[in-house]
Amino acid sequence: MTAIIDGKASAERLLAGIAADALAFRQEHGMPPTLAVILIGDDPASQVYVGRKIAACRRVGIGSIEHRLDGDFGEEALLALIDRLNADAKVHGILVQLPLPQGIRANPVLDRITPEKDVDGFHPVNVGRLSIGSDGLMPCTPLGCMILLDSVIQDFRGLSAVVVGKSNIVGKPVALLMLERECTVTVTHIHTRGLPDIVRSADIVVVAAGSPGLVRGDWIKPGAVVIDVGINRISDGADGSRIVGDCVFEEMSHARAVSPVPGGVGPMTIACLLSNTVRAARRQVR
Ligand code: NAD
Repeated sequence: MTAIIDGKASAERLLAGIAADALAFRQEHGMPPTLAVILIGDDPASQVYVGRKIAACRRVGIGSIEHRLDGDFGEEALLALIDRLNADAKVHGILVQLPLPQGIRANPVLDRITPEKDVDGFHPVNVGRLSIGSDGLMPCTPLGCMILLDSVIQDFRGLSAVVVGKSNIVGKPVALLMLERECTVTVTHIHTRGLPDIVRSADIVVVAAGSPGLVRGDWIKPGAVVIDVGINRISDGADGSRIVGDCVFEEMSHARAVSPVPGGVGPMTIACLLSNTVRAARRQVR
């Protein structure tokens, strides 16, 4: 029987712990752990994501400060805002919602956030810490993948893990996290040759390609654990649409466990962002 890895339930458990931690922090320090969120422009998807993050903060007692800025807010002004938030002792996490409007370069902006407040884990210092296995802030989606894997795998040592996708926000960091657990990790991408056979060799498959239906059932070794990170909106025929992952979910019945889309990695990402905010707050007051 294939276990369906319930990301919603895992996220709820994590959020309950975060709420308790946030309350304890507030009692000890007279202020809540606080996240500043910067959104520039009116991209509808970004508006939705930011709204969800703010709502999740409120739910667990994390303070939130919103900076919703016009699309013509310039890069220099944005850097100056980040400098102010970096210096504000009441702000523990800073998140700049991506993508940024044309004319603002993401790298200088993300690099400006002090690594101690970089709750997305995108700053080069935190990327470096992750790559040497030291204790930095780690990116949220890969952290969520690891928590889901932890719910079904006791011992990672020596397992063969294949990651499909090599992005800086998912593929590479999740590969590093599994390497830290002593997996033998292969990272694949759009130019990888013989991808089905490589995936077929894996005990753990993490797919983050953004390609609906890419991974078929006959790519998966019986008994493997599959984490599907993909979020793709596809047309449903008539006028409707639905969200699917990168794996053909119905063909995964010989896997030991599989995370569904929706309801798998998605709910974990925001929960891990909040977890990072509390962690960042604790480290800053220490
Ligand atoms: P990206 O576009 O930055 O990177 C995609 C990677 O997949 C690239 O390395 C590319 O080479 C590889 N790839 C694409 N098509 C491929 C193919 N046919 N075969 C092999 N490799 C292929 O994407 P990303 O930001 O890493 O996101 C990947 C997917 O994960 C998207 O669907 C995105 O929406 C989703 N995502 C979900 C969450 C979440 O919270 N659940 C978070 C981030 C991203």
